[in-house]
Amino acid sequence: MEPVYLDNNATTRCAPEVVQAMLPYFSEQFGNASSMHAFGAEVGSALATARKQLQALLGAEYDHEIVYTSGGTEADNTAILSALETQTGRDEVITSAVEHPAVLALVGHLEKTGRAKVHVIGVDAKGRLDVEAYRKALGPRTAIVSIMWANNETGTIFPVEQLAEMAHQAGALFHTDAVQAVGKIAMNLAESEIDMLSLSGHKLHAPKGIGALYVRKGTRLRPMVRGGHQERGRRAGTENIPGIVGLGKAAELALAHLEDERTRVAAMRDRLEQGLLEAIPNSFPTGDVDNRLPNTANVAFEYIEGEAILLLMNREGIAASSGSACTSGSLEPSHVLRAMNVPYTAAHGAIRFSFSRENTDADVDRALEAMPPIIARLREMSPFWKEREKLASGEASAFNPTYA
Ligand SMILES: *Cc1c(COP(=O)(O)O)cnc(C)c1O
Repeated sequence: MEPVYLDNNATTRCAPEVVQAMLPYFSEQFGNASSMHAFGAEVGSALATARKQLQALLGAEYDHEIVYTSGGTEADNTAILSALETQTGRDEVITSAVEHPAVLALVGHLEKTGRAKVHVIGVDAKGRLDVEAYRKALGPRTAIVSIMWANNETGTIFPVEQLAEMAHQAGALFHTDAVQAVGKIAMNLAESEIDMLSLSGHKLHAPKGIGALYVRKGTRLRPMVRGGHQERGRRAGTENIPGIVGLGKAAELALAHLEDERTRVAAMRDRLEQGLLEAIPNSFPTGDVDNRLPNTANVAFEYIEGEAILLLMNREGIAASSGSACTSGSLEPSHVLRAMNVPYTAAHGAIRFSFSRENTDADVDRALEAMPPIIARLREMSPFWKEREKLASGEASAFNPTYA
């Protein structure tokens, strides 16, 4: 049986068109963009094309607002470290409790080493940012705010345009980790006040190891990687030309498929989620279901372990994820669901199903067929489930007041 891949927020398959676009840049067009001969010139124009393709997807207005990086992590790190250097007299960073480790691990380190004071803004039960706490944290010492556009685990979308305006009123820079949002929802950066934005190739059908930091025209950037003059001195090191060409092509494809994402992909996601919730008792969606990415569903199955669910799903050839891939292997439930105060009995059994345009209705059928017996089987073995039947005596929501 064909495997069913529902883990596209972890990584996506390279689109065949992307691979095709990249291939010449491994062989015939192997030049270095910095060279003064024809080999270099060809590559230089490929870089310019990719930049245009990315600009179109982001709705970015000016040339030279894109700095290529090795991925989302490097872009996130660059943005925050740069702001702490360029924003003189400001040494505070504001972020959210549900960021990717690419932000949280960095700001944790900055705090620990005394290089920044960090405000971590919490979220409510649906994963929505506490905007009042954010407003209070902003001040004359805020160097930068880094808040994601959409959460990788729940798909919850943050009001980044509004948050950027608030940051500017306090004189702070605003960066958004948009790794999950780029290519899934429409963007118009030219009309926003967002100063910096991170994206990653492998989350949008381009290869791993390539990404970009959008830096609004006029925003100062201190390079994190120093060396040669590539990327106008903003990121040293010979450019990953095949990766950049692939990222550009992927951006062009994503823009062409945005409508498909909003309609067909969202419909597949909704059918799976609805089907699961109807077929499986003591299950509920996590995150802000009314304001989320079109491709993501995160469903909590109470009283069982996500790892066990994934193992049995894997035997049926279905790939999804529990918590974030970066924390699996530890037995703590994901930091995102904990920040949302999802009860432990449910957070442990939360599964993220993330679609892409490559999924089909047959994938949804397979998952809908496989999941109910898997959950039933694990619950039969779960001491918590047995306990729950005694305690709740039919009251499905008794353990779960937040989601009653
Ligand atoms: C995947 C991801 C990253 C990291 O991107 P890499 O290209 O893998 O370094 C950062 N932020 C979010 C929200 C992500 O989902």
